[in-house]
Amino acid sequence: MTYRGRFAPSPTGQLHFGSLVAAVGSWLYARHAGGQWLLRMEDIDPPREVAGAAADILAALPAFGLVADEPPLFQSQRTAAYDEVFEQLRAAGQVFPCTCSRRQLASNGGIHRDGQCVAADGSARAVAWRLRVPDVEVGFDDAMLGPQRENLRDSVGDFVIRRADGLYSYQLACVVDDAFQHITEVVRGQDLLESTGRQIWLQRCLDLPTPAYRHLPLVLDGEGNKLSKSSRAWPIDPADPTPALRRALSFLGRPLPDMPTDAERLLAHALTDFEPALMPHCSGNSDR
Ligand code: GLU
Repeated sequence: MTYRGRFAPSPTGQLHFGSLVAAVGSWLYARHAGGQWLLRMEDIDPPREVAGAAADILAALPAFGLVADEPPLFQSQRTAAYDEVFEQLRAAGQVFPCTCSRRQLASNGGIHRDGQCVAADGSARAVAWRLRVPDVEVGFDDAMLGPQRENLRDSVGDFVIRRADGLYSYQLACVVDDAFQHITEVVRGQDLLESTGRQIWLQRCLDLPTPAYRHLPLVLDGEGNKLSKSSRAWPIDPADPTPALRRALSFLGRPLPDMPTDAERLLAHALTDFEPALMPHCSGNSDR
């Protein structure tokens, strides 16, 4: 089976240093494996999106030497596929409509359990759809972090797969499209580790294959906070890509040539003596 990896940004802002690390990391594993590297624009949440960000991200990646093997998949064009899967879950009785508000769920620690709504029947609120989550433990071996286990009923409970505003959740869209794009390994930041159990459970409900997972260390700012897309702390400039690319490769523990060179050569050099198992030893944030 050919290795297929992907980078799946949300267009909620420009490409930032944290997402560049995820892009470069996923690219390195795919290229090292002699596989393919795909792009997926996760533009399924218009209220959170920034006009022009999707185009800017897609234009920036090649400047960093990151060229995908297929045209990008846009989730905004995949609604029919999500509808189909949603109907499948509904027909199987695996989802249920829910009008519980966050405030109402606060008394349950914010978690919806056992298909038991706390909102009164006939509430005027718009309906969200939740996936029933039984008392089930989901386990997987993260290629970077080792064995992971999660009891989904305890940690997240019945989770939303279609929101009250009619938009599909990230969890559903991600699972449908990882399968559609035949992704064999998901390489992404550790901020998404907490989504993986839900995604594996959805794959089981839908009889879809589970890819391998590898969660990269998060880039933190000087105060130890996650670098957000709004952060101006570590600017990246597609017009002058090599400084940020060097920093990203160094964060990932990859060797850098002494000589100044272009993005393509930096990436090629980073594949020298690439040992997937050694990548965990990222240089962290010391190399700013
Ligand atoms: N779109 C998500 C993000 O930008 C990443 C999704 C993923 O890699 O699974 O945070």
